[in-house]
Amino acid sequence: MSDLDEIYQEVILDHNKHPRNFGPLEGAVKAEGYNPLCGDKITIYVRIEDDVVADVHFEGAGCAISQASASVMTTLLRGKTRDEAKKIFSYFQDLATGSGDPEEHLAELGELAALAGIRNFPTRIKCATLAWHTMKMILDGKESS
Ligand code: ZN
Repeated sequence: MSDLDEIYQEVILDHNKHPRNFGPLEGAVKAEGYNPLCGDKITIYVRIEDDVVADVHFEGAGCAISQASASVMTTLLRGKTRDEAKKIFSYFQDLATGSGDPEEHLAELGELAALAGIRNFPTRIKCATLAWHTMKMILDGKESS
C-alpha cells in the first residue's frame, strides 16, 4: 500500500466514523436507495432552491464505503447547480468504474478521489455509487416524496 492509498483510506474511515450532514432535513425532498449486493441503505434529503442544491443530508446504514461516499457527497454538492451536480456524478462514475480517463476530473471530485481504488473491486462499485444514484433520482425529479 502506498502512502497515497493510506491517506485515501483515512478519508473513508473518517467519513464513516464521523458522517457529515447526517440526519433528516426539514422541508427537503427525499429518495431512498438500497444495494442488495451488500445490504447498504441510504436516504438522501435535498433542498433545491432556484435550481441550486441549497442543502443535502443523508441517513443510512451499511458498509464504510457506502456511508463515506454519501458523507463526502453531501459536502461536495451543497451550493452546486443541478447540472453541476450531475456532472460531478458522471465524473465519479468514471472514476469508480475506471471508464474513460478517470483521473481527468480529480480536482472536481475532492475527497471522492479516496474511492478511486474501488474500480479494482467490481462488486463494491455499487456501494460507492449508491448515494449518487439515489441523489440523481432527486436531481432528475423522480424522488419518491
Ligand atoms: Zn457496501
